[in-house]
Amino acid sequence: MKKYFYFLLLSLVLFVSCNEDSLSSDISQEINTITNENICFDVYLIEDIENHSKVNSEYDINSYGALLKYKKWENGKTIRIKFLNGTPFLQSKIKQFANEWLKYANLNFEYVNPYQNADIRINFDNSGGSWSYIGTDCNYIDANKPTMNFGWFNSNTPDYEFSRTVIHEFGHALGLVHEHQSPASGIQWNKQKVYEYYGGAPNYWSKEKVDQNIFYKYDHTITNYSSFDNKSIMLYSFPSSLSLNGWSSGWNTVLSVKDKEFIAQLYPGKVYETQNLYRYFYDSRHFYTSDFNELGYRYLEGILGKIYSSQIPNTYPIYRYYNRINGDRLSTINWNELQNGGSNGWVYEGITGYAYNSPQPNTIPVYRFFREKSKPDHLLTTKKNEVQYLENKNEKWGIILPKYKYEGIAFYILK
Ligand SMILES: [Zn+2]
Repeated sequence: MKKYFYFLLLSLVLFVSCNEDSLSSDISQEINTITNENICFDVYLIEDIENHSKVNSEYDINSYGALLKYKKWENGKTIRIKFLNGTPFLQSKIKQFANEWLKYANLNFEYVNPYQNADIRINFDNSGGSWSYIGTDCNYIDANKPTMNFGWFNSNTPDYEFSRTVIHEFGHALGLVHEHQSPASGIQWNKQKVYEYYGGAPNYWSKEKVDQNIFYKYDHTITNYSSFDNKSIMLYSFPSSLSLNGWSSGWNTVLSVKDKEFIAQLYPGKVYETQNLYRYFYDSRHFYTSDFNELGYRYLEGILGKIYSSQIPNTYPIYRYYNRINGDRLSTINWNELQNGGSNGWVYEGITGYAYNSPQPNTIPVYRFFREKSKPDHLLTTKKNEVQYLENKNEKWGIILPKYKYEGIAFYILK
């Protein structure tokens, strides 16, 4: 269980902004050097500032809990989205990275024409920073106004920056708030340093604004959460100088494992896309793929089962390798087995799909065998007695072939 606090926001309409000036010019340096730029902050509408002023200095937000739960979209909803401007290139990048959430959340996005009504309205304004309203707060915004802005994208923006910013802003749009304000965060702030850091250029935050955006934590009595996630896409990057114990966080540019698990809990019931895992046999060796077009019907032996098209909680990538020297092919979920390849003729070919490393409902084990002699071959099968069966058959016909040795369970796939 993770953090309901994501929805337990301080005010009815919360506006999260990620101001930045410099990313477009020198991103690669910034990725490695945490600076005090590109900082998200929360801005409240006037009526919410009035509510906010009632929150006492201990940041007790119990009184807001019931109200704040309404920031979550209805589970299974198709959220309508439109672009108010932007080039086809920018729009395509937003769609590409926003979709990362849909791999795990039981929601859909429908992109509509500019003249149609939309729940989320995306604007590109390079003078306005990057921000999004939180979840269903979008319903309270004038229908002609944006609910999300991207403030530093252009035709040269690299994918990792699209990834970092688009996924983060869509996290807000789905109801998530910043990870460092989790009741589980436990960050030991050097408060004086934090006030100085954000009080200076380029943010010039007041003490109150720092309190709101950094120190304020959502109350655990009205939340449901697990441990703090240092890898969350919803976490700012913080230099170690701001903490008392040297803690810091880097630039998170992709969904973390916990982000995926959490959004899947908030919007449960996602039907995950699966693919067949095909087994082929040609030139006395086996070949495994989820892409039927790779070999088609020729040499097809059968379908072992199904694997996931994207990484869902508790699954691991199936890495595929080809051996240039002896023609063997290996599929493994253990990256450390061959890593990028390179040794003994092994070439890394990519990810076939995603499978479990332990038994789960509706899964079957895939057994791994290896024949070293003659033509080396890794055999994957869901029938552990297959090898014995083949050997018996061959023996009956007077054929003695090099034997396969059992190597263990490779992974677990869906039946
Ligand atoms: Zn943010």
